[in-house]
Parts: sequence; structure tokens; C-alpha cells
Amino acid sequence: MRERIETLWKKDKSPLMIAGPCSAESEEQLRLSTQLLSEIGVKVIRAGIWKPRTRPNTFEGIGSPALQWIKDIKKDFDVQFAIEVATAQHVELALEYGVDVLWIGARTTVNPFTVQEIADSLKGVDIPVLVKNPINPDLALWLGALERLSNAGISKLGAIHRGFSSHRKSKYRNEPLWQIPIELKRLHPDLPLIGDPSHIAGERGLIEAVSQKALDVNYDGLMIEVHPNPDKALSDAKQQITPATLERLLGTLQVRSATS
Ligand code: PEP
Ligand code: MN
Repeated sequence: MRERIETLWKKDKSPLMIAGPCSAESEEQLRLSTQLLSEIGVKVIRAGIWKPRTRPNTFEGIGSPALQWIKDIKKDFDVQFAIEVATAQHVELALEYGVDVLWIGARTTVNPFTVQEIADSLKGVDIPVLVKNPINPDLALWLGALERLSNAGISKLGAIHRGFSSHRKSKYRNEPLWQIPIELKRLHPDLPLIGDPSHIAGERGLIEAVSQKALDVNYDGLMIEVHPNPDKALSDAKQQITPATLERLLGTLQVRSATS
């Protein structure tokens, strides 16, 4: 089971696809998402359990009850689950419920204290951990978070590029500033780099172009938000796509290998 995500670290050149809803909203929604995504060959399902929302009084995630849904759904589908962790307690719960892959969100990467606490809570556990870029365009902060996890003994580390906040008006929700992840890749050529076109784009119409750009600069995978009924999603509705749209997208995207 672990093998699929490990292929990234075995230099398997086919890009890894991580897809699933921004947030786990109900057991039915998560099960249907998993079923439809596994039918189109997605092997790693993402789902936010604790949601870092910008403003209060919005949906902040189901929290730990959704971990039981993940555990139950995993019995019926040959998939792995990836969730965001923002505290050491999230890590403890995720491990208890057998979550396969953890990621650190952009608002957590900016905080060295929290990243260190998460890293300490992972000592002796060799689970894949993906680190999103910080919300501000600071490569050193992104590197620092990766180093804290590496120093804690995490060997299956990866980076996720989700774009950077800006006060400037832009067609993107988060400006990609491709030179920053490209510099990370130059410094650490063996570190898997995954694009998150959903959070860069902020709206579904831009996802294909951002995904293709990520593949053109040799990213190792993509993480895309997919919801069975995107317009009704409780978070990030505008940027989520249906499983059928993802299937079409996967048929359109071109993987250009560095060696070809
Ligand atoms: C998410 O993946 O849904 C999320 C909240 O991401 P980010 O940390 O990139 O904002
Ligand atoms: Mn989201």
C-alpha cells in the first residue's frame, strides 16, 4: 500500500496525482469522491479535516470524526489518504487512524515553532510529509520547515507549491512566482515537488494551464481539489472540479520528461 507514494522517492518518473475535496464534509461526500476518483485511477486522496479559514464563522472542517470516515473508507478502496496537519495533536490523531500521508499547510509553514513541534511529534515515524510553501514568498522559510522535518528523521519529504499571497491584483488567487519553487528544485533536485494548481488558480478555469506549466518545468506530481458537486462545496467552491473534469484534464495534460 505504501508503495505508491514511495514511488516519488524512488525516482519513478510518472507524476503522482493527489486529488480529493478541499474539505471532508460528510462520510457520503468523502466516500463518493473516493469511489469516483479511484475509478479514474487516482491512488492518493486528499481531504482537509481541520481547515485553516481566513475568517471566522466559516466552515472550519469536521475535525477528528472525519478520521473515522477515512479509516472506514480505506477498507473498501485501494487508496491512500493525505490530510493537512497543523499541530502535534493533529499528527497524533492522524497516525492513530492510519492516515498515509501528511501535509503541512501554507499558514503553518510560516511558523517555525509549530513546524518544530510537528517535527518533534514525528520522531521515529517514517511517514511521507509534504510541506506547502509559506503564504509569503520566502524560500528560506520553506527550506527551514523542510530542514526541521528532515532533521527529525523524515526521509520521505516533499514540497508542494501552492502559490504566494500578494496585495497586487492578479488573475491568480495566489501568485505562482515559479522562480521560487524552481530555485528549490535547483538546490534540492531529489526533493519531490508537487504543484497545487487549485490554490494557485483560485478558479477552475485556470487549473489546466497552471497544471501544464508545472509539468513543463518537471514537477513530480499534482495535487488537485476535486468535489462531486463543486458549486456546493463548503470551502474553496470556485476552484474545485468534478471527477469527470479531472479525467478530461488528465487526458489533456502532457508530461514532458526531462530526458525525452
Ligand atoms: C488546502 O489545501 O485546502 C489549504 C487550506 O491549503 P493552503 O495551506 O495551501 O492554503
Ligand atoms: Mn482548499
